[in-house]
Amino acid sequence: MDLVTVRTVRTPSHRDQLVLAPGERPLGGGTWLFSEEQPGLTGLVDLTTLGWPDVERSDDVLTIAATCTIAALQRVDPEPDWLAWSLVGRCANALLASFKVWNVATVGGNVGVALPAGAMIALLVTLDAEAVVWTPSGGERRTPVAALVTGVRELALEDGEVIRAFAVPTSALRARTASRRTSLSPHGRSGALVTARWDDDGFVLVVTAATPRPLVLRWPAVPDAVSVRAAMDAHDDWYDDPHGSPDWRRGVSTRFALELRDEAAGGAA
Ligand SMILES: Cc1cc2nc3c(=O)[nH]c(=O)nc-3n(C[C@H](O)[C@H](O)[C@H](O)COP(=O)(O)OP(=O)(O)OC[C@H]3O[C@@H](n4cnc5c(N)ncnc54)[C@H](O)[C@@H]3O)c2cc1C
Repeated sequence: MDLVTVRTVRTPSHRDQLVLAPGERPLGGGTWLFSEEQPGLTGLVDLTTLGWPDVERSDDVLTIAATCTIAALQRVDPEPDWLAWSLVGRCANALLASFKVWNVATVGGNVGVALPAGAMIALLVTLDAEAVVWTPSGGERRTPVAALVTGVRELALEDGEVIRAFAVPTSALRARTASRRTSLSPHGRSGALVTARWDDDGFVLVVTAATPRPLVLRWPAVPDAVSVRAAMDAHDDWYDDPHGSPDWRRGVSTRFALELRDEAAGGAA
């Protein structure tokens, strides 16, 4: 839709042009920004003109640029031991999005919207990724993506801060993963997305779409079913919207969590 309040669209080529003026917001792919009214928005700053490489590899970290599109992330050729890479495709497919959205929507934009059904959030949290945040003063800080998303459409970002990238530890990429997803209708928005990652260092379970913000549960080893059920029962903040009631979301998420535990306990890939 037309954003009739927008007066300027800036296309920076250097970081010093990235300072956001009052009323300006960063523009990723624009698939959410242009999908609804944006009260108070007077300017856009297009991050895609900064020319950040989609991904950069080192021995320890895979750095995914905030501007990397979901489609480009799926085209990355993984290292042979990145068992967890299949989670990228599974999370991309968890979005209620056609391939046209994938080709434009950015990983940073998906996190930036901070919707419960933000499947790139699920991916990054499951892989223990840190967000690399550029501060308006020219500095940089890092924060786990799990701590960055604080609620529905809420991020722990100060005014003027921009997500530059996501740092994914390659140790997490070498772990095994599995996921379960459901929605109320065959092609509906996710009502629950439960992901798990496990290796010799432990078992991580992440619930998104069913909760206002990611629920992250960790154990030093694959837990027994009683522990998983108890942890899920102890959680009392389940999301309520037309894509599912809290009780339904709690029920399906708990079932999925137990299935993923069984899969990990059985040693399945
Ligand atoms: C058909 C369709 C289906 C969709 N399905 C889903 C779905 O299932 N789940 C879901 O979560 N979303 C969904 N969306 C919403 C949206 O398209 C996605 O969340 C998408 O990933 C947003 O990415 P983008 O790059 O287009 O973000 P943009 O629209 O460019 O930006 C989104 C928000 O993030 C901010 N932002 C962007 N980049 C940064 C950055 N680097 N640092 C800080 N802030 C930033 C922007 O200022 C804006 O507030 C859907 C949209 C459509 C049109």
